[in-house]
Amino acid sequence: MFETLPAPKLDGIIGLMQAFAADTRADKIDLGVGVYRDAQGRTPIMRAVKQAEARILEQQDSKSYLSLAGDAAFLTTMEALLLGGAVPSARVAAVGTPGGTAAVRQICELIAKVRPGATVWVSAQTWPNHGPLIAAAGLKARPYRYLDAEAGALDRAGMFADLGAAQAGEVVLLHGCCHNPTGVDLSPQDWAEMGALLERTGAVPFVDMAYQGFGDGLDADAGGLRHLAARLPEVLIAASCSKNFGLYRDRVGIAMVVVPEGQRDAMAATLAGLNRQSFAFPPDHGGRVVSTILGDPMLRAVWLEELDEMRARVQTNRRALAEALRDASGSDRMGAVAAQQGMFSILPLSEAQVTKLREDDGIYMLWDGRVNMAGMDPSRAGDVARAVAEVMR
Ligand code: PMP
Repeated sequence: MFETLPAPKLDGIIGLMQAFAADTRADKIDLGVGVYRDAQGRTPIMRAVKQAEARILEQQDSKSYLSLAGDAAFLTTMEALLLGGAVPSARVAAVGTPGGTAAVRQICELIAKVRPGATVWVSAQTWPNHGPLIAAAGLKARPYRYLDAEAGALDRAGMFADLGAAQAGEVVLLHGCCHNPTGVDLSPQDWAEMGALLERTGAVPFVDMAYQGFGDGLDADAGGLRHLAARLPEVLIAASCSKNFGLYRDRVGIAMVVVPEGQRDAMAATLAGLNRQSFAFPPDHGGRVVSTILGDPMLRAVWLEELDEMRARVQTNRRALAEALRDASGSDRMGAVAAQQGMFSILPLSEAQVTKLREDDGIYMLWDGRVNMAGMDPSRAGDVARAVAEVMR
């Protein structure tokens, strides 16, 4: 039956992880895969997670099925984390999902239910899995301009000009914060302008929030999302707890929809039905860890302290690399990296230059020049910058 099935191309990131593991050079640097790393290169289990897990291990007395939406405490604590009371709970429907990936997929399935084949506008550079997830639900991705590659900043005019053509019944996908892969975010003014554009066009925003807490802090990072939620009748949300709780492999995500008053129950039942037809019950363990932490002032404080440490480390690395790049290249374009947010930035490198850095210098990054700031110790910033400047000469 499957003898003619072609092997799909190996996912670029997975291939890069394998190549890095196989590289025997002691001074190799992994700026590729998008996970947080500490100064020792480890992705640790957060202290609050360990404590919450110990509590769950001791107290949990059943692993029987829960509802299709998952643990109610997870849904309400995540609603508060994301929306911060910007809209009444009576306007919010949500379900747990296996990671942010499945949250994106479930929201795409939801769109396809009412608008088969609908257009989803995506920033020209975006998380490489957005396109396949949109296509898998039978929707069409259409790019809008985003990064001004020369300036390393937002192409504001290009973005708003392109999205001016969005129409009612179409969807605009936005990164809540810490844009992957560019590190270029919308300012509060940009979010306000985006709100006005969406109001005018009737297109519906879809906010993907995968790095809340890694930019300017939990509340500031959700500021754009909250502005849209307070202003517009409908907002689609996919959020991930992989990065900010370090729960990557436990698969913790949430698909959430803000609806007009009176429509919540129908939306909640629809989202539950979509879960039923793809995986039925979302995984519980990681979600329970999250609700245990968010619901307990002591654990929450422990979590916030460590999240702050992680954000600070990423920012220290970012500034160190930006400065070293400016010094090594003599160009301010590289200095723009300092103003970007979150774990990622795109360095203006060709695929050939990226390959050369990997082969000659043992510096691993994604083929489009995306670097993960957490993958490097600040003491290596000079090495990275010199190699990058050399390859660009
Ligand atoms: N959206 C974006 C923008 C991401 O970068 C990621 C993780 N790389 C996700 C969603 C999904 O993350 P996960 O499924 O691991 O929670």
